[in-house]
Amino acid sequence: MKKDICAYTYEQLQAEIQAMGERGFRAKQIYEWLHVRLAEDFSEMTNLSRELKYRLSEQYEILPVVMLEKQESRLDGTCKFLFRLHDGNVVESVWMRYHYGNSVCISSQVGCRMGCRFCASGIGGLARGLSPSEMLGQVYRLQRIMGERVSNVVVMGTGEPLDNYDSLLTFLRILTGEKGLHISQRNVTVSTCGIVPKMYELAKEHLQITLALSLHGATQEKRKQLMPVANAYELEEVLTACDAYFRETGRRITFEYSLIRGVNDTEEDLRELIRILGSRNCHLNLIPVNSVKEYGLKQPDRKNAQNFKNKLEKYGINVTLRRELGADIDGACGQLRRSYVRTRTEEAEL
Ligand code: SAH
Repeated sequence: MKKDICAYTYEQLQAEIQAMGERGFRAKQIYEWLHVRLAEDFSEMTNLSRELKYRLSEQYEILPVVMLEKQESRLDGTCKFLFRLHDGNVVESVWMRYHYGNSVCISSQVGCRMGCRFCASGIGGLARGLSPSEMLGQVYRLQRIMGERVSNVVVMGTGEPLDNYDSLLTFLRILTGEKGLHISQRNVTVSTCGIVPKMYELAKEHLQITLALSLHGATQEKRKQLMPVANAYELEEVLTACDAYFRETGRRITFEYSLIRGVNDTEEDLRELIRILGSRNCHLNLIPVNSVKEYGLKQPDRKNAQNFKNKLEKYGINVTLRRELGADIDGACGQLRRSYVRTRTEEAEL
């Protein structure tokens, strides 16, 4: 089987190329073709000899991430993409424009096994984790398709990144490494539902990335109702792991809280949120829940959400109410892939 050439760090690629009997600078050229110029085929590598390109293509492959579908929001230019991987699985990614630059949201797994009660990504369970090159491939394809530089990357698409830890770490190293796209670690966010042991491991890497913690409930009980992962890790343990991440890296945690009408947006929820976050140096991101057909959950109305935010602010909590992007496309996590998989299944059943 051919080897996946985009999954090597610079040092690893150097070792591979040396083992082929090639000089050191060739590794630098190839790495640049793969991770800066975002080549999709060895034939694009015009400063390599024909013979070397042939030898490379005999031993290695650049795994394709092929665009299947693009939806563009007419409201704000947000674009949602469906990509096909080499084995026929599909993942989705999102392109968002902000005043500070272009941000892409990528998937870390095909499906997800965390089963959060409001999230479309978990509905069909987990198929597999993505390789580092499949995560990079989403960023690279988006940059090539859009013809503009990606400045921020958030790992908040389908999947639980810390459930695919080793691949995630290689991905982060290549993405932020100075010989690749060199995206600043401070412009990268990894979102987790709270896999405690992996949060400690990540803290020990001393990366400057932002860790986002999906909170969604401010008590153990409430969290358990919404997120099965809370059965494995108590809220207190998760918060202690967040504190450790902040201590080790100096990076403030972003807590994410999807507001669901009548479920976690009451006065009592507010009190509990203030109790756990009031004394923490952190950021809280409120996200009106995106409705998912299968669940029937509702957003609070805008006034209530704003009220919720204002009260938190009064207690000194650093909070934002997320502006909704791409509201007219399948905006919520996993919904585009879900509708694709559903259509395919229905077609197959006909
Ligand atoms: N597994 C990771 C990352 C993927 S989900 C995690 O749990 O953090 C990215 C974020 O979107 C999480 O905060 C998740 O809880 C949230 N999310 C999922 N479905 C949503 C929905 N329908 N509406 C609003 N936010 C949702």
